[in-house]
Amino acid sequence: LLAPDGSARPTIFAEMSALAAATGAINLGQGFPDEDGPDAVLTAARDAIAHGVNQYPPGRGIPDLLSAISEHQLRFYGLRIDPHRDVIVTAGATEALASTLLALIDGPDDEVVVFEPYYDSYAACVALAGARLVTVPLRWPHFQPDLDQLRDAVSDRTRIILVNDPHNPTGAVFTAEVRDEVVRLAEKHDAVIVTDEVYEHLIFDEPHVPIATLPGAWERTLTISSGGKTFSTTGWKIGWVSGPSALVDAVLAVKQFLTYVNGAPFQPAIATGLRLPDTYFAAIASALRAKRDLLGTGLRAAGFEVSVPSGSYFTVARIPDRGDGPADAADFCRALPARAGVVAIPLTAFAGPEHRGDYAELVRFAACKRVEVLEEAAARLGAML
Ligand code: PMP
Ligand code: GLN
Repeated sequence: LLAPDGSARPTIFAEMSALAAATGAINLGQGFPDEDGPDAVLTAARDAIAHGVNQYPPGRGIPDLLSAISEHQLRFYGLRIDPHRDVIVTAGATEALASTLLALIDGPDDEVVVFEPYYDSYAACVALAGARLVTVPLRWPHFQPDLDQLRDAVSDRTRIILVNDPHNPTGAVFTAEVRDEVVRLAEKHDAVIVTDEVYEHLIFDEPHVPIATLPGAWERTLTISSGGKTFSTTGWKIGWVSGPSALVDAVLAVKQFLTYVNGAPFQPAIATGLRLPDTYFAAIASALRAKRDLLGTGLRAAGFEVSVPSGSYFTVARIPDRGDGPADAADFCRALPARAGVVAIPLTAFAGPEHRGDYAELVRFAACKRVEVLEEAAARLGAML
């Protein structure tokens, strides 16, 4: 986790946002919306502060938020979860992932199967927990895993199969065959499924299917989500982990010594958000879908090949071939602010050192920005031609 000189290495997101700030470039790198979320949610946080919800909340989360999460799981997915036993609130999905991996991993013989490219904290937390990372590649342009490679990766050494659906950075939504195979393999090898579904409501073609709803999955699945994505409040850091109570308790045992409790006034506000009508959830997906299309059109016009995402904030594009040697996404992204006034993230940042070469031509752009910002970014990229 440290740079060769012993200093803390910034994450790719911090590095690229700093580059955007320093150069004045449009930031299509780090995935965060540039507009506030719904008024009802923002007002609920202000009201909570005004009404004295400012001290340590309960460690599992405030009861109203736990109930709202339980109601949400039933309304959208038909899942019945006990708000007192089957869910805890965490400091965003990031802490949910860290405490889950630290809780479930026993030692260096444990393996965690992840799909590569992967969100950066997965490999970091597996390393912190002292386990081995086993990767299954997702390949351009559809980014679905090959089922034989998935079967080869999972064994009796597998403690966790870590899924992220919809997927960051590729925007892929796994097919039903892939989801079913994950459950079958977890059952066969007695592994736990940890599923990061933070983009559950940012999905464009079909309703989201939580792995926990599949036959045989619930009792071995921990589902991670985040209010940051669904309510455009990424800075509030309210996430949660749900699943069978024994697994959730193991996560809580670690979580209580990481952050103890989280953001008291933000919790009732996220509860308000989870109780918004269905129209809110449909509207955020369709607005982001329109932005995805706008970004995709702009990227194609600028000479990129585009993998059309089915969900998430992100679109992956292949760097235009200018006949001047093999593309290198990291160099390309470093030069992009000066060349085009745009920041994006190389896909290599989401792969381990041994597989980075497989993603060297690919760049991730965030579509979760205002329409006029995406139009300006598209114009700038087009002018680079
Ligand atoms: N998982 C994935 C796949 C993400 O994209 C993010 C957000 N960058 C997180 C986890 C972390 O979410 P949070 O901000 O709630 O910690
Ligand atoms: N999830 C966002 C992304 O992938 C932001 C992550 C972060 O800043 N840690 O860009």
